[in-house]
Amino acid sequence: MKVLVINCGSSSLKFQLINSEDESVIAKGLCERIGQEGSRLVYSPYEKDKIIIEEEMPTHKRAVELVINALTDKDTGVVESLKDVSAVGHRIVHGGERFAESVIIDNEVIKAIEECNDLAPLHNPANLIGIHACKELMPDTPMVAVFDTAFHQTMSPKAYLYGLPYEYYDKYKVRRYGFHGTSHSYVSKKTAEILGKNYEDMKTIVCHLGNGASICAVDKGKSVDTSMGLTPLEGLIMGTRAGSIDPAIIEFIANKENKDINEVMNILNKDSGVLGMSGIGSDFRDLMTAMESGNERARLTLQAYCYQVVKYIGAYTAAMSGVDAIVFTAGVGENNGFIRKEVCSYLTYLGIEIDETANEKRGEEVIISTPDSRVKVLVVPTNEELKIAKETVECIK
Ligand code: AMP
Repeated sequence: MKVLVINCGSSSLKFQLINSEDESVIAKGLCERIGQEGSRLVYSPYEKDKIIIEEEMPTHKRAVELVINALTDKDTGVVESLKDVSAVGHRIVHGGERFAESVIIDNEVIKAIEECNDLAPLHNPANLIGIHACKELMPDTPMVAVFDTAFHQTMSPKAYLYGLPYEYYDKYKVRRYGFHGTSHSYVSKKTAEILGKNYEDMKTIVCHLGNGASICAVDKGKSVDTSMGLTPLEGLIMGTRAGSIDPAIIEFIANKENKDINEVMNILNKDSGVLGMSGIGSDFRDLMTAMESGNERARLTLQAYCYQVVKYIGAYTAAMSGVDAIVFTAGVGENNGFIRKEVCSYLTYLGIEIDETANEKRGEEVIISTPDSRVKVLVVPTNEELKIAKETVECIK
């Protein structure tokens, strides 16, 4: 079955056409600068050269139209007609408490996703635009919504409630939701497969370390806790997001710098994290280069970053009364052996021993702990698109 996976942002649209049987990517691409000048589609059919189509995309509908044209074009296309696309899987950031699993999209589901807009004002409206555009252009193709939050709906109230007046939960559903759910679910399941263990018997901690970063405790195949919260701002130090801070800092900075709450929130989301701490950038490759050439702030930033990861691993080991496997994934987790080694250097108390040669590998599935290591440590590249395609197939079956 061929599934079109769509990840729609406010000015971008990423897509992959996936063959769900052999899990291969038939084509993928990205529409950039939708609604702005200079928009373009970067289209990559499998094993062929990248094609750049520079064309105005005033709306997301036009972007989807161009994607369909590229996929069905007689020279560059990969399918004869749209009829060959069996379903569309949409990545939706926030499903609130309503969605604990993926669902077929109908009008009622669209309304329920709209009701979650308040919880993810930057993401959900953009995701919905993608749904409407596809609905108009492919009205007969079934569509499925796959939520970033759904996997974490198994958390118990003790893990998701904040120490706030309960009425805010009652009235506004202020609670921990967690994100990167498709990644945490895919990676934890894959880990059990690689280790030849039963997923339902394992305690796993997944470290999704990308530009956005979160950690998840997965006990018996279920998310029991995760570091992101009501929004993706909570938790680890990230590329540009501050992660967890004393909330009083917001008022303090606002007063000192004469800023309003939106300006301070913007700083916490966009100017903080390793970018703000180092003053160098949010890309870990740049931080590594700076550290290697003796930049002290880069070194300190990387140390602080690892320290937070270590603290969450400790907390989640305690929360699950143990851990069988710790897994690194996403851009930094998959590629940065220094970060992995630094994090694991704190974890000898768990009986963890790292195989330095294995840890040098990047971007591939690998066990980086030694055979004697009490807790297994792995790198498992995430594949959110494949997971969305699989969920989509399951839903429409
Ligand atoms: P993601 O959000 O998962 O795409 O991750 C982005 C982050 O991954 C950036 O900070 C990059 O520095 C880091 N990253 C991606 N590829 C590499 C690589 N080959 N080596 C080191 N870091 C990488």
